[in-house]
Formats: sequence, structure tokens, C-alpha cells
Amino acid sequence: MIFESENGFSEWSPFLEYSTIESARWLKASLNWLENTRPKTKTDSITPNATLPAIDASEVGSVLKKYKHLNTVKIKIAEPGQPRQADLQRIQAAINFAPEANIRLDANGGLDIEQSLELIYWLKHESVNLQYLEQPVKTIEEMSKLKSEIESQQLEVLIAADESIRKNTDPFEVDSEQAADLMVVKWQPLGGIQEILEINHKVNTPLVVSSALESAIGLNAGIWLACSLDSGFDPGLGTSSLFVRDIVDELPMEAVEISPNRDTMKSLEADAETTSRWQQRLTDCYRQLYSPE
Ligand SMILES: [Mg+2]
Repeated sequence: MIFESENGFSEWSPFLEYSTIESARWLKASLNWLENTRPKTKTDSITPNATLPAIDASEVGSVLKKYKHLNTVKIKIAEPGQPRQADLQRIQAAINFAPEANIRLDANGGLDIEQSLELIYWLKHESVNLQYLEQPVKTIEEMSKLKSEIESQQLEVLIAADESIRKNTDPFEVDSEQAADLMVVKWQPLGGIQEILEINHKVNTPLVVSSALESAIGLNAGIWLACSLDSGFDPGLGTSSLFVRDIVDELPMEAVEISPNRDTMKSLEADAETTSRWQQRLTDCYRQLYSPE
């Protein structure tokens, strides 16, 4: 859903399967963005990373060539049902296409500790320019174990936590358990830009801004956040390239106000059934936020 106020536009886009309680946190973020003044920024622009879904190695070139920036390439791995060999082939194909790129590997918690270490040995052997391994294992406990294994074997690989950080209490747990070297933050799931700026003050690990399949409006809020944090890690805000169409004509990678193209918005409007389903969802989440039972 796209909201408009005198302040500008905001987006609310919790995933379909998310509960009312969880989606209400996204709504809080969205309404704050709609109503509040923009945060102070440390830099004016960002370079987003390219994201490579868990596709066949033969398709890697055709996806990567859609991205304007290939300084950092994030590759999805450990897709359920895919052999590990497919990951290695995909990584190899991406490196062949963009040999200078920093490589991030995102397993969405799909590996165990042993598989993570095997992957790390292979990456070392192939001299892959790995920036970090994102959420290799599921739990915070496993992440801590893997990280101490990496340290004791002097493997020098950074671990980023993503799925372990869904609520604004989680970053403190990850930080206190020393389960990760970096944390991936998304402005809607964590309840807003302000919440993340406060987290940044309290934790010791750098934050990497990412997105959750948002339109340009949501990505723009992420860009403002990334410009405010200026963490030194390219944010995951280039996902517009994975969309067939978006609601702005061009999304600048700068902390600036943007406006959707109203004709495009009109042509992408949801059908009546979808609209009423989302209106009900909005009502439920609004109630949850302001008068929970
Ligand atoms: Mg991730």
C-alpha cells in the first residue's frame, strides 16, 4: 500500500503470510515515515549492491547485466531442494561476470555449521573476494558457535545476521551473544528509521541496510536510512532491477524526496478483491497498533 501526506509518500508492504502483530510493526514504520521529518544524513548518496537470486549458473549473466552497479554482488545460496554444487557454480559464474566485485553470500539460514565451514574452505581455496556470509545458519546460538569456530581456525570470514534480526529487541541479543560481525537492517520490519538509528547508537556491530521487496517508495526510505548510517557497506537497495515495473520513472540513489508517476500507479492498481483484503489488513493492523486487545 502507498500512503500520501503533505510530507510525501510512504509504503506499507508486509509479506502476505505475516501476522497482524508483525505487520503492525511495519505499519508503525510506514506511518512514521509518512509523518516525520527526514533524518539527518552523513552522505548524500549510496551505491546499492546487486542481488542474484538462486538461479541456474547459465542465467547469471542475464540477471547481473540489468544492474548499474556491480561493486558488490549478493548471491543467494542454500535454496531448499537445490544441490550445494549449484551454489558453487552460481558463485563461480558471478565472479566470471564481475571479477572485481565484493561477494556476499546469503544462505537465509539454510546451512548447518558443518556445511558453512565446508563452504568457507571452498571460498578460501578459490580465493573468492568474500565480504561476508549472511545468515548461514538459523539460530543465534549456531551463529555464535560458527563464529567462534571461524576465529579459532583463523579463517577471517565475517558473518552477518539477517533473519535473526526481525524485531527491534533482536539486535541487542545478537550483539550481546557476539553472534555476528554485521547486522542487516530493514526499516519496515524493525519498526522504523528512528528505531534503527537508536539501535545503531547502542550496538557495536556495523549495520547494513537492506530491503524487503519494496517499491521505489520503500526503497527511498531505505536510501535515506543508509545515507544517515553511512556504515561503509553497500546497502541492498537495488532490488527495483528485479521488478518488471516500478512506480517511479527513476529512483535516484540519493537522500531526496521522490514522487511516483501517477499514471503508472493508476495502471498498477490492485483489483477490487485485493484492495478490500488489504484495507481489512490495514484496519486490523491499525487497531493492533493503537488499541491492542
Ligand atoms: Mg538475507
